[in-house]
Amino acid sequence: MSTVNRSLKLFTATALAISVSACSFLQQQPEVTYVKDQVYKLTVLHTNDHHGRFWQDRKGRWGMAARLTLVNQIREEVKAEGGNVLLLSGGDVNTGVPESDLQEAEPDFMGMNMLGYDAMAIGNHEFDNSREILMQQEKWAKFPMLAANIIDEKTGETLFDPYTTFEFNGLRVAVMGLTTTDTPEQTNPENTAGLEFRTPVDVASKLVPELEKKADIIIASTHMGHYKNGDYGVNAPGDVTLARNVDGIDLIIGGHSQDPLFEPDQQNGTYIVQAHEWGKYVGRADFEFLNGDLKLVDYKLIPVNGKKGKPTLAQNKEMLELLKPYKDKASELIEVKVGELDERLQGERSEVRFKPTNLAVLLNRAFMEKTGADFSVMNGGGIRASLDEGEITYKDVLTVLPFGNTVTTTELTGQEVIDYLTVVALKPTNSGAYAHFEGADMTIANGKVSDLTIGGETIDLNKTYKMAILSFSAGGGDKYPNLKTKSGFVDTGFVDADVLREYIENHPQIKADQFAPEGVIRL
Ligand SMILES: [Zn+2]
Repeated sequence: MSTVNRSLKLFTATALAISVSACSFLQQQPEVTYVKDQVYKLTVLHTNDHHGRFWQDRKGRWGMAARLTLVNQIREEVKAEGGNVLLLSGGDVNTGVPESDLQEAEPDFMGMNMLGYDAMAIGNHEFDNSREILMQQEKWAKFPMLAANIIDEKTGETLFDPYTTFEFNGLRVAVMGLTTTDTPEQTNPENTAGLEFRTPVDVASKLVPELEKKADIIIASTHMGHYKNGDYGVNAPGDVTLARNVDGIDLIIGGHSQDPLFEPDQQNGTYIVQAHEWGKYVGRADFEFLNGDLKLVDYKLIPVNGKKGKPTLAQNKEMLELLKPYKDKASELIEVKVGELDERLQGERSEVRFKPTNLAVLLNRAFMEKTGADFSVMNGGGIRASLDEGEITYKDVLTVLPFGNTVTTTELTGQEVIDYLTVVALKPTNSGAYAHFEGADMTIANGKVSDLTIGGETIDLNKTYKMAILSFSAGGGDKYPNLKTKSGFVDTGFVDADVLREYIENHPQIKADQFAPEGVIRL
């Protein structure tokens, strides 16, 4: 049993000794190592979806230096009352801020080490980088990165430790990790090749009874999303589904849906918590354990300098010293001007997942200019920020396109173009799959695409057209048709942000009204 072997490595020497000696004379009943009639105080702190925010934002909000001040305060307070603290992450440390992305989240993992994280769940965005970088991150981390449901198809073993255990004067706590099965669709397919993402409910149903033999408290640190009433819609099932279908989990530390859950959601005896995103909050759950019973005494989300007014939490000096060199190095790399813009180009989530926008037009034109494609398709979920009027820096460009996808082209016959667009043009609003077009005009109505023109001319079924699209979508991301197996497919290897940067450098005075979206009619 590989699972057992991997977890044994993480046992403290004491716990291992106890479990070995207990096994020899206690075959039937689960061993008990906690002290009878002693009230144990356990405080679980948690964050999730950090997404590269190691540094405070421009307004002095968030950041790991203020987070450490807060965590230190709580640790001292809990210690003074004879309690213990666990600090857990619900995953997605990676992707979102160029300063972090350019350095492969090294500052973030170093910051987590200084904060003293005890474990983290693997998030889907941990797969935005190559496997090599992910494994480097696991080496940087002085805490286990957990995922019980990600299986390496070659070895049949979990890619990461499935769980870890902690022991506080006889009180034993197990923390397991679970990752959304949407991961292979939500990142570059190459990075999840050879991995199987098993259904969390199935994996946990087997693992929890095993953990119950060796722990008094079972925590799932997950990256699956909290969906109210378990209504997960087009997403993979999340924490509510897990809690309802698997007995015995005391607490789920969640992530992925980036919810501020100000009150824990209680399902089937399991508390589900989540602390919004970006280190805006630290979640704090105070438990008392007595003779096998676990009681949640208090729960709150504590803002990290996020409230209006003067920041109240000081920046921890040691953390600033650790992170400043990374910040400086990144600034040099990215704060270079590439062009100017007269009006905002729209890239907000509330825009690009709902309607055609001028920024999407500009991106598609940049991809077409670079590749000579006849038309271009861009998924709304790949656009991560707007471009504001005024100076455009490389940093701004990287914030719009942080994922490092490459631009691909595919040669398609007129009929293949119609078939392809009939799939992607019908992707719903309010989803990352929502498609933007340039060079292809059409009417989308009643589940059909009609009046299709390419480059202003009615599509010719026998002609061949060249389409540009990012590698994420070309590889089947967002359930777009997979183009990589087609004979006319070429991955240019040009990184999206660099293509955008080049386009702006070639057209350094961008006029927003020249990128007004038109030509696609949705009825
Ligand atoms: Zn996520």
